[in-house]
Amino acid sequence: MPDTLIIGGGISGLSCAMTLHAAGADMLVLEAAEEPGGKIRTETHDGFRLECGPNTVQDDVPETHDLVAAAGLTDEWIASRPENHDRFIWKNGRRHRLPSPPFSILKALTTPMMSPLGKLRFACEPFVARGDNSAESLRSFGDRRLGPDATRSLLEPFASGIHGADPDRLEIESAFPKLAEAERRFGNLLPGMFKLARERRGGGPRRSPLMRSFADGLQTLPATIAACLAGEYRGGCRVQSVARDGESFVVHYTGPQGNVETSCRNLVLATPPRIAGDLLMVLDDAADLAGELRAIASTDVVVVHVGAAEKDLTAPLDGFGHLAVRDHGVRTLGTIYASSLYPGRCCSPGQVLLTSFTGGALDPAVIDMDDDAILQFVLADLSRTVGFRGEPVMTRINRWPEAFPQYHIGHAARQRRITENLVGIPGLHIIGNYLNGVSINDCIRSGMAVGRRLISEA
Ligand SMILES: Cc1cc2nc3c(=O)[nH]c(=O)nc-3n(C[C@H](O)[C@H](O)[C@H](O)COP(=O)(O)OP(=O)(O)OC[C@H]3O[C@@H](n4cnc5c(N)ncnc54)[C@H](O)[C@@H]3O)c2cc1C
Repeated sequence: MPDTLIIGGGISGLSCAMTLHAAGADMLVLEAAEEPGGKIRTETHDGFRLECGPNTVQDDVPETHDLVAAAGLTDEWIASRPENHDRFIWKNGRRHRLPSPPFSILKALTTPMMSPLGKLRFACEPFVARGDNSAESLRSFGDRRLGPDATRSLLEPFASGIHGADPDRLEIESAFPKLAEAERRFGNLLPGMFKLARERRGGGPRRSPLMRSFADGLQTLPATIAACLAGEYRGGCRVQSVARDGESFVVHYTGPQGNVETSCRNLVLATPPRIAGDLLMVLDDAADLAGELRAIASTDVVVVHVGAAEKDLTAPLDGFGHLAVRDHGVRTLGTIYASSLYPGRCCSPGQVLLTSFTGGALDPAVIDMDDDAILQFVLADLSRTVGFRGEPVMTRINRWPEAFPQYHIGHAARQRRITENLVGIPGLHIIGNYLNGVSINDCIRSGMAVGRRLISEA
């Protein structure tokens, strides 16, 4: 009977577990899948190293450095090629190199991506009166502050690339909290974002974050953590139900040993929100909490990998990748130039690897299409965006049902209710990408925070 039981061996659960492990706490992680990592999954097919979920982690969060160091991986953490950091936006039939940093006024004024009027409106942002951005959609916020042209060209592609979201439903303060905070505190976004960044650096020197991975792919991190946890991590163990026995939680799971019952004093739910809600529904004091969790919608995403001969592309893959503006002739949400980021992604020189993201809230039909139909439109899109002509040497499709939790309008209020509900249920903790941000960094930060709280309360 462990003191703390963590359900879910994605990066949120593993970050919490590693914090407890380092402190010598008594705990156990139960993960339904055979392999650790959840959405972080690296596979090798026909010699290509494929990231089925995330491709990169940004190295500007101290907790992530700590986790990587605790796993003994600091020397193996590789940075993406510096010459390929730029992103492109696909609009009006061509790729536009995105001004970096994204909200630099002067650079934005040089891009042909926006109309002259759109640029003028964008440049007026610092003079737009401060508004109330609580419970406001990304589109409404963007239109109000930056104007419709910049919203469509800059904000919306990021909303679909990061959240797979509908810009009319995505809540700005939950999905892009720094933008909302810049307006709230400084009354503008463009200078406000710089001031926020300076505050976070504590006046230290400016440093652009690097995008990182590992030579064998991102799954190196969860796999190494699971190996460090050894007997405290059990894969292939699916939790079927949670019940209460006095102050303890009783957990039933099925695993290699058949049906197992175990108890714990602290229970950490690190699963997607719907599953957490389903598990909690039967607890008398958690019905409201379960309702809140089950009400969080998620969207499906389909990831399509295409390996190709470099000579079959007319456009250079000299960047991170491109995001597409909706209704500009391609169905794909965006494409990462995976082989331009890190070495060792293809099986031989002269080959490239392209990872495209499709589906999301505005194109939910994709997940139910057959592989051939998906491949057909992705290849047609690649022919338009990067001039791919020829036969792929490798294709692979990964379907992710319920991939991205949706930070819909009302999410911040829901998150506050979730926190209030948890206060009344001692021993219960919840972590995951539906609470404090979807990035790996966000998950690590909140997982470690819960680990530290459990240690301090022990
Ligand atoms: C296609 C895609 C691309 C992305 N790209 C990036 C990127 O480039 N950079 C970035 O920072 N972020 C990216 N993200 C986001 C990031 O990968 C995720 O938000 C993060 O990995 C989620 O981690 P998690 O632990 O909260 O959830 P998950 O990874 O979903 O982990 C939850 C775990 O719970 C387990 N589980 C579920 N039910 C049970 C049960 N009953 N019993 C036991 N275990 C159970 C699951 O098997 C799973 O392993 C991407 C996400 C996707 C889907």
